[in-house]
Amino acid sequence: MTRDKTYNFSAGPSVLPDEVLHRAGKEISNYGGSGMSVMEMSHRSSVFQEIFDSVKVKLKSALSVPDSHEILFLQGGASLQFSMVPMNLMGENGSADYAVTGHFSNVAAREAKKYGTVNISASSEAEGHTYIPSQSQLVLDPGASYFYYCSNNTIYGTEWKYVPETGDVPLVCDMSSNILSKPIDVSKYGIIFAGAQKNMAPAGLTVVIIDKSLAGRELPYTPLMMGYKLMIDKDSMYNTPPCWNIYILSLVLDWLEEQGGVAGMEVLKSQKAAFVYDFLDNSRLFRSSVRPDSRSDMNITFHTGDPDLDAVFAKEAAARGLLNLKGHRLAGGLRASIYNAQPMEGVVALVEFMKEFEVRHHV
Ligand SMILES: *Cc1c(COP(=O)(O)O)cnc(C)c1O
Repeated sequence: MTRDKTYNFSAGPSVLPDEVLHRAGKEISNYGGSGMSVMEMSHRSSVFQEIFDSVKVKLKSALSVPDSHEILFLQGGASLQFSMVPMNLMGENGSADYAVTGHFSNVAAREAKKYGTVNISASSEAEGHTYIPSQSQLVLDPGASYFYYCSNNTIYGTEWKYVPETGDVPLVCDMSSNILSKPIDVSKYGIIFAGAQKNMAPAGLTVVIIDKSLAGRELPYTPLMMGYKLMIDKDSMYNTPPCWNIYILSLVLDWLEEQGGVAGMEVLKSQKAAFVYDFLDNSRLFRSSVRPDSRSDMNITFHTGDPDLDAVFAKEAAARGLLNLKGHRLAGGLRASIYNAQPMEGVVALVEFMKEFEVRHHV
């Protein structure tokens, strides 16, 4: 069945490129003449090892990951990193700085309190997480074990437009919903992590990029599977890695390369986001939910001001094949997630429908 008439705006798991799904479909029962599906082969086989090695090379190249950093393919979702980060980096009697700019960084900060002292460097909670604090608003402790932030707030639709300056304090960043959308300077980070299901692959894979000098400091009771050092030493294969997801990531990275890599994605995502925000800024019905300087290019949150009308919009849009536009229950309103694999045509179709809806419902 084709899906020519639908566009999926889901925040995650989210749209994957058509080319990737078609290729995976073709190779599903016989990968590369092996007579097996990637789902069926041993993770220790040479066929899989080749996939594994190549996806690391592709990701290293796509994000220009320096040799000082290791790429890990883990499980447990981005959420397991909320525990793994403090367990590995907090140290005995340590403290860490957290910027709370949304739901996921809030959960991460609360989790970290189990393992040490957490200083809230900034919080946007009082204003409903509608903005990103500026560098000068961050209260930083030069003695902190690390500084933690979430670069794109999937639920509220805000995005950091700068990399925080923290001196010698390592930066830890949850990039689940904007990784691979633009070039980044990986050398500035101690740890970058991302659940794959937003911009990389199906759910079940978590990518961690870690400065190797930070590994090996885990608290003594850290579960075996949650130590970065072990995973680095075993090249993410202490146990069975999520083989199928790693394979899909490989196909996504091939697709990304064909689109001009992260530089190509940056151009495209800026065009797509500007198209929607320009419409919102001139609309008589719809409004952006966040402060203009903090708007996310990946998750666009908006509303009509009337929750019932928002619901009608999401329902009518779905009937037109514009899927999953309802906002997250914590933020309300509407949300269009326009990750890398969302084509410009999807964004144009969305705005066309918004215009039509506006004419019908404008009072
Ligand atoms: C989706 C998301 C998470 C949670 O990811 P899981 O893989 O479901 O644990 C965490 N952080 C951000 C920014 C997200 O978008």
